[in-house]
Amino acid sequence: MADIIDGKKISARVKEKIKAEVSALKDKNIEAGLAVVIVGDNPASRVYVNAKKKACAEVGINSYEYALPEDTTQQELLDLVNILNSDDKVDGILVQMPLPKHINENDIINSIIPNKDVDAFHPVNVGKIMIGDYSFLPCTPAGVMELIKSTGISIKGKDCVVIGRSNIVGKPMSMLLLHESGTVTICHSKTKDLKEKCKSADILVAAVGVANLITADMVKEGAVVIDVGMNRLADGKLCGDVDFENVSKVAGYITPVPGGVGPMTIAMLLENTLTSAKIKNIIK
Ligand code: NAD
Repeated sequence: MADIIDGKKISARVKEKIKAEVSALKDKNIEAGLAVVIVGDNPASRVYVNAKKKACAEVGINSYEYALPEDTTQQELLDLVNILNSDDKVDGILVQMPLPKHINENDIINSIIPNKDVDAFHPVNVGKIMIGDYSFLPCTPAGVMELIKSTGISIKGKDCVVIGRSNIVGKPMSMLLLHESGTVTICHSKTKDLKEKCKSADILVAAVGVANLITADMVKEGAVVIDVGMNRLADGKLCGDVDFENVSKVAGYITPVPGGVGPMTIAMLLENTLTSAKIKNIIK
């Protein structure tokens, strides 16, 4: 049976460390702040925004919510981002995605000043990640790296397979594994022989959004399996991309959903906000 990688426990440790650092900054009269912008009333977005605000409160980071109506124009949102870009109490700006269809998400991402882009979605930050010279890492891939490292298994020279090629998870994930000298294969919806490719993986990261896509016969004995997927089943339950029950009989390590990658994503957002505050105040 696989060892469970407990994202809740690991993220709690990360948050404790951040809390101590935030408190040390307060002793120097420095406060860290995150602006969270939500447009419209997407229920899932509301859940994420609340979770992010709660996590900020837990570690002592100030959070400022800007809840805008669904019919907010692109220009109105750009104007708000502009104000936040030059607001000194704001170290990080997070615009919760998805945005309403009439707003171009890329235009909004591009409008956030890169040193407050705590999601690390801005092309400048994406480029920095590509060359391995970065201040922020995108939260979900950064969280996954922490989870893999928690197993004590070195990524160096390992065959790593990432399923999914999105800009927010799959692509940066692949790059981070490459930076740690993994041999990386990126799979996607047009990949041939997905099963065979997955089976070759010492480290398998699934970031697809299809419930139970990864079955036990696709996994190498002893592999590290990280499940990024978050899928809502008809009965309302949350599940990942991996058939947890059966894959855990084959894998060496596995993350559960919920309680795996999700809590780490939020912890990394806090870390990025703290990093931004430290950079602004020239603190190492
Ligand atoms: P996306 O829809 O942008 O990308 C999905 C990717 O999966 C695409 O690259 C596509 O080519 C690939 N794909 C689709 N069907 C496939 C198939 N049958 N076989 C192989 N590849 C296939 O999604 P995303 O934003 O990258 O998110 C992926 C999943 O991760 C979603 O379930 C999302 O909810 C979840 N997610 C979780 C967190 C977290 O914090 N836990 C954060 C971000 C995303």
